[in-house]
Amino acid sequence: MPATGPCLSKRSPKLGGTLNQLHSSFPRWENPRDLLDCKIGELQKCPGVTVMTRSTITECSLTGAGYSLTVSDGKNGENLDFSVDAAVLATGFDLMDISIYGEYGYGIFPNVFTPLEFESKLKEWSRGEGTKPGSIALFKCVGSRDRSKGRPYCSKICCMYTAKQAGAVKEMFPDSKVYVFYMDYRAAGKEYEEFVRDVIENRHVRYVRDDRQRCSLKTESCWSGQKIRSLDCPSRWRWT
Ligand code: SF4
Repeated sequence: MPATGPCLSKRSPKLGGTLNQLHSSFPRWENPRDLLDCKIGELQKCPGVTVMTRSTITECSLTGAGYSLTVSDGKNGENLDFSVDAAVLATGFDLMDISIYGEYGYGIFPNVFTPLEFESKLKEWSRGEGTKPGSIALFKCVGSRDRSKGRPYCSKICCMYTAKQAGAVKEMFPDSKVYVFYMDYRAAGKEYEEFVRDVIENRHVRYVRDDRQRCSLKTESCWSGQKIRSLDCPSRWRWT
């Protein structure tokens, strides 16, 4: 007899997904840990919810009124059947391999990070660890809106987390120089425009516009010293 209550099935070992890796949130600078604890607390108060981590939905079929699901529990190898009225599929995401953009030097220079790696860096700094940054450059639209790489779409989220990361650095290190290189910024959500404006006007992050956004990193000695010297950008920058 299949269970009929709500079932939350996750492949990863704990609830929260990528939120577990984040230093802060937008547009309200909340602590992701607090947000998660609050949501998990609410979930635990819901009667009859089955939460399964390390699990995979192996079968899903339409029945007359809803769906019949089979979930494989990775912890004990058992299969559990559920009969539910609705199924919500939340796919999550994987990061692309940004080393295909050779001009940024990812994988060559130790201080070039993906956004999620930079979140870890922010956490490290917030614990008082690591070396204080001098200058930081954040590049937007890398891996999006680029037909040459087969990704013509806008990701819709990176304008905001870039602003958040830039603002977080300035909050911790007001003397550091933080630049955001961008084609456009698309802040189309509640309180989003105000959030980006606050980062620019009150935290003094410098937004640098270049229509082609094809800045690249120059090094002291490309393959030996690997020390980043400057940013090589077209001359027609516009400062926001
Ligand atoms: S415009 Fe903003 S949200 Fe869209 S791909 Fe570029 S950085 Fe991301």
